[in-house]
Amino acid sequence: MDDTLMKRTIDYTWEQFEALPMEQKCACLAKPDGMPFCTLFAQQFDRARLDRLCALATQIRQIAKSRAGMEFLQGLLFHKRAMIYFTQPSSRTFLSFLSACQILGIKTGEVRDAAVSSEFKGESREDSIRTFSSYFDLIIMRTQEKGLAERMSWALASSDRPIPIINAGSGKDQHPTQALLDIYTLNRSFERRGGFCHRTVMYVGDLARGRTVRSLANLLLNYEDITHIFVAAEPLQIGQDILDMLDAHGARYIVTSDMHKYLPEADAVYMTRIQDEWDKSRGESARIDTSRFKIKGEDMRLMKPDAILMHPLPRRDEIAVECDSDPRAKYWRQMRNGMWIRTALIAATFDCDSRISNYFRDNF
Ligand code: ASP
Repeated sequence: MDDTLMKRTIDYTWEQFEALPMEQKCACLAKPDGMPFCTLFAQQFDRARLDRLCALATQIRQIAKSRAGMEFLQGLLFHKRAMIYFTQPSSRTFLSFLSACQILGIKTGEVRDAAVSSEFKGESREDSIRTFSSYFDLIIMRTQEKGLAERMSWALASSDRPIPIINAGSGKDQHPTQALLDIYTLNRSFERRGGFCHRTVMYVGDLARGRTVRSLANLLLNYEDITHIFVAAEPLQIGQDILDMLDAHGARYIVTSDMHKYLPEADAVYMTRIQDEWDKSRGESARIDTSRFKIKGEDMRLMKPDAILMHPLPRRDEIAVECDSDPRAKYWRQMRNGMWIRTALIAATFDCDSRISNYFRDNF
């Protein structure tokens, strides 16, 4: 880690660091080239960094098509090891990070259940993370707990092994790398149609507890003239903090429970599932009428012919299987995009981005 960065972070106690304005926190977590050293929040990415990562993901995707290209990629971080520490359920995020590490030649270890680690014996999270940092060069973590990745990044900064941490989902709060793959999907889908500015995004489902929508709304602030339409049953509507953030940036938004009224206006429809694992009482979500927040084939007729349908997955019944064959359904592609953008993020974290771009320039 860059000395100045370490110094900037350890100059603060945890309480001081936690209370810093987001902009200052992001500056503490950045490498000298501006890319994140630890990736914890969507707010760490400005437009230039997003464009850079998306371009890098596309170059990696091309390079990985040939055996020679894969050999090149796998040599880049052959000397690194990553701990994938997921104490919350995951299929796609886990597998895409694992694949991303494999593409770059990184060896991985994993803990997917705190019950099989020493945390079960009463070890603190700090000590567990400190242990991982003794064996690994990168920690990719998913937790129930908001702010844990941030606290661990701060704690490691003052240790003798200040390695990077990537937040792969923190409670109901943030999922920055999902937002990166959503942005990459939007970019790719609209690149031949003038890009993703002056567009309308509709988010549908459980917006109160869905971390992906929160992170995506944040990243979309980097794109000019975006209208956000939040569609949900009243108890599942988007948090006031996100609306305040949109207000602070002068972004346009609509909060509604009428999906059909606004469906014809959307360029991207972002469906989400009901996050009932967060229910405070048994059956809380089941008592909410969510029947109007599902898409079937007939609803897709209301969408623009060139709009796209997205979902962070897993889905339940909020998108009917019959929609999968519609060319506007992008969720399977979105999932695969996750592997490429996460590969790009890890490559950038370890400063391999220029080597990849040079290889691309010389070979394509
Ligand atoms: N996979 C996403 C997440 O981890 C969405 C979801 O679980 O509904 O937040």
